[in-house]
Amino acid sequence: MLNRYGVLRTQALSSLCLKARASRAKSGELAEALDIDPGGLLHTVRASNAAVPAGPPADPNPFHRDGKSTQGLSPAKSNYAMPIDESPFEGYAVRCGITFTFGGLRIEPRTGQVQHVAGRPIPGLFAAGEMVGGLFVGNYTSGSGMLAGATWGRLAGTHAARAALDASSAARALRV
Ligand SMILES: Cc1cc2nc3c(=O)[nH]c(=O)nc-3n(C[C@H](O)[C@H](O)[C@H](O)COP(=O)(O)OP(=O)(O)OC[C@H]3O[C@@H](n4cnc5c(N)ncnc54)[C@H](O)[C@@H]3O)c2cc1C
Repeated sequence: MLNRYGVLRTQALSSLCLKARASRAKSGELAEALDIDPGGLLHTVRASNAAVPAGPPADPNPFHRDGKSTQGLSPAKSNYAMPIDESPFEGYAVRCGITFTFGGLRIEPRTGQVQHVAGRPIPGLFAAGEMVGGLFVGNYTSGSGMLAGATWGRLAGTHAARAALDASSAARALRV
């Protein structure tokens, strides 16, 4: 759910997919519009509201973390904790996604050719993007996902095409 500042109130969400949207005056109507359990929604919102600490209101400034975190929720909302108590409410259906895997297939970095666990290249198999591992460990630089995909996509694509051409000319030579 979004509050009046448009700050997303959800826990452990690495990605969101906008599947449905509803803006309603009452949480029950919102639940109905989103086709989710109204009792569950109410329970979650109440628990979230109860976890907002007393004191000065949150400062929803995206350029400054206000440190106002929920208490008793796991995982905690680390900043900008504020109650969802003003209608109209807006709801989005969300699902988790993977922003970065950090793991994946080992490739030869100059060609994108996939390496066997025994250390030798696998003929005809090339990989790029999220399915490649070993580029980063633990964390990554913003924007590097697409950049890695574009860089090794081009390399792997070029070498895969080359390998295919080589294989077809070798096959033609065999037929002659
Ligand atoms: C929420 C989110 C935010 C992100 N933000 C950024 C960002 O700001 N900057 C950045 O650089 N990176 C960002 N990333 C990471 C970036 O999106 C990925 O690293 C990148 O899209 C990976 O590209 P890819 O081609 O390897 O995989 P994908 O983009 O996942 O493409 C794989 C494709 O294969 C298709 N597919 C799967 N199985 C099959 C099959 N059996 N047959 C045919 N097709 C199939 C899928 O439908 C999909 O289209 C973000 C990721 C997420 C989830």
